[in-house]
Amino acid sequence: MAVPLMQAVRVGAYVVKQHLLGRKRYPLVLMLEPLFRCNLACSGCGKIDYPSEILNQRMSVQECLDADAECGAPVIAVAGGEPLLHKDMPEIIRGLLARKKYVYLCTNALLLEKKIDDYEPSPFFSWDIHLDGDQQMHDVSVSQEGVYTRAIAAIKLAKERGFRVSINCTLFDGADPKRVAAFYDEVMALGVDGIMTAPGYAYERAPDQEHFLSRQKTKQLFRDIFRLGKGKKWRFTQSPLFLNFLAGNEQYHCTPWGKPLRTVFGWQRPCYLLGEGYARTFKELLNDTHWDDYGTGNYEKCANCMVHSGYESTAVKDAIARPLHLLKVALMGPETEGPMAPEISLAHQRPAEYTYTKQVEERLQEIKDRKKPVTPPKVRILSSNDSKLPQDSVTAAD
Ligand code: SF4
Repeated sequence: MAVPLMQAVRVGAYVVKQHLLGRKRYPLVLMLEPLFRCNLACSGCGKIDYPSEILNQRMSVQECLDADAECGAPVIAVAGGEPLLHKDMPEIIRGLLARKKYVYLCTNALLLEKKIDDYEPSPFFSWDIHLDGDQQMHDVSVSQEGVYTRAIAAIKLAKERGFRVSINCTLFDGADPKRVAAFYDEVMALGVDGIMTAPGYAYERAPDQEHFLSRQKTKQLFRDIFRLGKGKKWRFTQSPLFLNFLAGNEQYHCTPWGKPLRTVFGWQRPCYLLGEGYARTFKELLNDTHWDDYGTGNYEKCANCMVHSGYESTAVKDAIARPLHLLKVALMGPETEGPMAPEISLAHQRPAEYTYTKQVEERLQEIKDRKKPVTPPKVRILSSNDSKLPQDSVTAAD
């Protein structure tokens, strides 16, 4: 199994409990980005295009633990930026594991060998290695040669040391289904515990805007890949119904609150992919975000999104509602032939708003304000003989 049985049982029990409690919106996975700084500059990444004042910001250990306490999701994905650049990362991970959270530490693996002794294997902990395909695909994706080789060496090392390891594979336009299938075979042969896969989201700040997939192309690509995987034992960390959605067999609407994101800015609205504002608390994020403004069909920036951060939680909810359907897809795999589910109409989506510059200016101002020296209030030293004041108002004895 890509996910340990106990994890599946505990997460399943959490989901059922939320339904029994009648909660309309609840988080499934907390996405935690304690820094934006990275040691790579991938062409499809929209996360690192900030001024250095922002890239130098870090969430403290306490802020990370507080984010977990506020959110309460059973699973936490720690990402970034590159989380292994955060000097307190081992302490953050230890704190989350002590609370029995299932933690995925998402890394490009360049620092893994150097830092591996700071971490211990646990059924609650998994390295999640960024790997966007075979050597050529991945090195192109991260815009640097040699990264694939180092990631593979890191996977082998982590497996030798007894860690759980999954890979995080984002696919872009032009991906060849045969090569992707061969790559999945290869990582399975390495003993990787699970594959998390998704199409890239069209980040407006990503340097390469030419290779993001449309929804139609995404569905066809995954159908072609899954067809080649029939009879193979590929293990995915995602739910079978999400994979069925990727293959064009489900008409799902986005559930952006299912994977809420906490960054150095606060709680990002509305989701992991889109930063259109920030809430100070998780409660404020849930209660005050205009959720109906987002999702495919509602907003131009969501038009081509089929990423797990929006749709995995929808698939999990569907699994509760249609357990027999889940069982069928889990046993047979995603459907790869026949008509696809109808696409959501984009006729009434609202046009994109571009808020990046305003948000960066606001954040820079906040950072400046935090740095301003605080002038202490003027205190008048009173004498106990001061007859105009009661005795308990005297702040300093003469
Ligand atoms: S569809 Fe959902 S997950 Fe995707 S960008 Fe829009 S709000 Fe975010």
